This record gives sequence, structure tokens and C-alpha cells, in this order.
Amino acid sequence: MTMTRRRFLSASAGLAVTPLFGGGVVGATLPREADIVVIGAGAAGIAAARRIQAANRKVIVVEAASQIGGRCQTDSATFDLPFDRGARWMHNPETNPMIKLARAAGLEIITAPSGQKIRIGRRNARAGETEEFLAALVRANRAIDDASRRFDVSCASVLPKDLGDWAGTAEFVLGANFAGKDLKDVSVIDKIRAQDRNTAIACRQGLGTLIARLGEQIPLSLSTPANRIAWGSRDVTVETPAGKIAARAAVITVSSNVLAAGNIKFTPDIPKRTLDAAAKLSLGSYDRIALQLPGNPLGLSRDDIIIEQSNSTRTALLFANIGSSSLCSIDVAGSFGRDLSAQGEAAMVAFAVEWLTKLFGSDALKGVKKTTATRWNAAPFALGAMSAAAPGAQPSRKILSEPIGCMYLAGEATHETLWGTVDGAWESGERAAEAALRRIGALRDAEPEAPARAPKQRRRSAPVN
Ligand SMILES: Cc1cc2nc3c(=O)[nH]c(=O)nc-3n(C[C@H](O)[C@H](O)[C@H](O)COP(=O)(O)OP(=O)(O)OC[C@H]3O[C@@H](n4cnc5c(N)ncnc54)[C@H](O)[C@@H]3O)c2cc1C
Repeated sequence: MTMTRRRFLSASAGLAVTPLFGGGVVGATLPREADIVVIGAGAAGIAAARRIQAANRKVIVVEAASQIGGRCQTDSATFDLPFDRGARWMHNPETNPMIKLARAAGLEIITAPSGQKIRIGRRNARAGETEEFLAALVRANRAIDDASRRFDVSCASVLPKDLGDWAGTAEFVLGANFAGKDLKDVSVIDKIRAQDRNTAIACRQGLGTLIARLGEQIPLSLSTPANRIAWGSRDVTVETPAGKIAARAAVITVSSNVLAAGNIKFTPDIPKRTLDAAAKLSLGSYDRIALQLPGNPLGLSRDDIIIEQSNSTRTALLFANIGSSSLCSIDVAGSFGRDLSAQGEAAMVAFAVEWLTKLFGSDALKGVKKTTATRWNAAPFALGAMSAAAPGAQPSRKILSEPIGCMYLAGEATHETLWGTVDGAWESGERAAEAALRRIGALRDAEPEAPARAPKQRRRSAPVN
């Protein structure tokens, strides 16, 4: 991500935290009041703030981290090209607002190659084998779909038992790689309600760069965690280490795990049903291990995406030679990814090297240059990757988006069909901002909301996240 606005705190422990301002108000003190205060400067928070600004109301965003973006973070320092540590892909180009926003911001849009390859040991799957795998995926999806019409159980419990050699790969593609969770932990209804993710489109400068760019004109205060929120039906006071902000409404966009962890205290307490809903929409695990492999030792093409035929959860997805560079990312997810990331970056890099060696031979990895790995479960202001409803818990998404006094929750977890995505987070932020604007009388009921998305299509599970 672009670091030009970033300044690091030098205050020693015990000193009050000094807020860092983005949005062209660097050096200003934290405003004491606003019409609406937004908690969090990820996609949902930036979308909400832009909507409030567009309605000519005073908004302030408080962000706990020292940069904008939340789970959209682009690392522009480690490698020769920007590397998205969080969200990378935008789907559904016909309806996804992020693509239009990226173009309008002057960023470059690139479409990933449509064909993804499957490795079986050291060779590529033959056409017939790939067909077999796709047929297994169709059968697995159909079984989940059928079950979702009757009850809300786990996806794993309804999978056909005869997927044979493709069972592990189907589990990875539909579960860990799609939702950050194994299928035993994912609700069939949540999975089926999820909107199709067709074409995978990236932003050359990075999705984190895009969110940071979209937040440039927003009054926001970085390194300013909301510690406590006192709320009622008419106003709200947000307490931060830099002072209090009084507002007539609040939009709260922190992740379901941050909310459920009780990292923000509420006075009075928020309803138990809200906290229960957040807990049932806990975040799955999804991390990227980046290796710089000069000289194309894997012998792959630009932007090749590769998965393997696997009979266990100990597997990954490779995105190779990103943008024709020597950068490769190995994505790990679900219970295996969670356990691996808990062991630290060195263990993650060791797994990536071992996995690539298994698939491409021992000589392939002699020249590994730079490496890095994300650990989203340990990131204190995210505590995970993306939400997926536990079996039986799909209604939690609606519950999580219920207003609480003059507070409106937003974020990917509140979106019923675009959960786990940036565009879902963005749309939820706009919706919550509109509800907050209505509450303070700044938007009449007749005024149009942000354009609704096209009706939900069935989600085909592309093996990319
Ligand atoms: C590795 C990975 C890969 C992904 N891949 C994709 C993908 O390819 N495509 C896709 O569409 N989506 C993807 N996602 C999901 C996507 O990143 C999220 O759905 C989306 O970014 C969530 O945005 P949000 O605004 O809801 O939440 P967040 O981005 O989490 O924003 C919440 C903000 O609140 C801040 N905050 C937390 N606590 C406080 C506090 N007390 N006070 C103030 N601020 C606070 C946080 O720092 C954060 O900035 C991926 C996620 C990960 C982790």
C-alpha cells in the first residue's frame, strides 16, 4: 500500500496515543463531534464514509490500524510489484462496483487467465481427469443445493460419498479456498446463498491500494481504536485514546471476530443476539505465502493458477509468475491453514517449499529469493480472513445487520449473498450509511439508495480467492 501518508507513533508505552489523520487533514486534532461516526477504514467503512459525505453530512472515520484498507492491504515494498496480502480478486464484472471505482481512480484492471490447472503428483491432470474433477464439483454443489432446501446442516455432511480421488480437492475448492473453513464448518444455506464468483479480476496496483485511494478524501483518524461506545436511540459517543467523538449515529464495520471478541466495549451492552450472531459468523483462515522464484524454475506461464489432486486438507493454491514477475503466492486456508499459520512465518514458508517440491521436483526451488507470509488470524484488528456461517447459522447475517439504537453494523459478514468479499463489504457500508442518514433525517425515504445489485446468480466456485 502507498505509505506516503503513514507516520509511525514514537510515543512510548504509557503515553497517550496520537491519532494519525488521512483524508487531507494531517496534523489536525480529532474532531469532537460529527453527524455520523464510522468505526473502521476497510472497504465497508470507506464506502459508508463516502456515502455520508455525498449526502453533505459531517463524517469522521476512526481506524485502529496505522493504515487504511483493513483486510485489503497491498505490500508495495517487499517485491518489485505490488503484492496483495489480503483480498486480491474482484468477481462479477457486470455488477461489481469496485471495478468501476478502480478504473475511475486511474488504476489498471487485469483479468486472470480462465483456465486453472490441476496437478496430479508431478504431472498436469489430463483433459479427461479435469472433466472428472469438474463433474465431481457439480455433484458436490448439487448435493449442497438439494440439502439447503430442506435443512441447514454442514456442507460436509451432505457431500456424495463416492467422489473418490477428487473428494479432497472438492473439499478444498468448495470449503477452505472459498470460505476459509472446512466444509464441516460451513452452513449449506450460507454456501448456496453466496453469489456466483465468476471471472477473477485483479487491480495491477493492488486492491489495498484501491481502498486507500478511495479513502483519500475522507476525514479519518488512523491508529485510533474505538475502545468504548456509549449509545442510545438518539446519539452515540465513541471513546478513543485520542478523545471522545459525539455523533447522532454510528456505522460499525469491525470484523465479526473483533466484535465477538469484545474488543469494543458498549454502554449499555449490545444485545446478546448480536454477539451470538457475530460468533456464529466467525472468520475462517486464509493466508498467502509469497516466494520470489527468479528464472521461472517451475516452468509455468504468467498468472498460472494451480491446485492439486489431494486426499487431505494439507494442500494449497498456487498463483505463479504474477504479472510475468518471479513472484509466486501459495495460499493456505481452512483448518490446515489455521494450524500452519499458528506455527509462524518460517513454518509457512517451509510448507510452501515442501509442497512445490512435491509437485515440481526438488530442483525447482533452489533459488528462492525473498519470502513473506501473512498471518491474518493473528492480525489484532481483523482476527481472521472472511466470515462463513456455521451450520444452522445462516440467519445470523440478517441478525447482525439489525440496527442497535442509532448504531448500524456493516462489513462483509452482514451481507447475505456477497459475504467474504470486498464488494459485499462495500455494499454493506453504503447500506448502513443510508440507514444512518435516514435515522438522522438526512435522507428521505423516497430518495434512491445505492443501485441494487443484479439478482443473485448461483455461485460457481472458481478455485481462486
Ligand atoms: C487473505 C485474504 C484473501 C481474500 N481474498 C479475497 C478476494 O480475492 N476477493 C474478495 O472479494 N475478498 C477477499 N477477501 C475478503 C475481503 O478482504 C473482506 O471481505 C473485506 O476486505 C472485508 O472488509 P470489511 O470492511 O468488512 O472489514 P475489514 O477490512 O476488516 O475492515 C474493518 C476495519 O476496522 C478496523 N478496526 C478493528 N477494530 C477497530 C476498533 N476498535 N476501532 C477502530 N477500527 C477498528 C480494522 O483495522 C479494519 O480496518 C480476502 C480476505 C483475506 C484475509
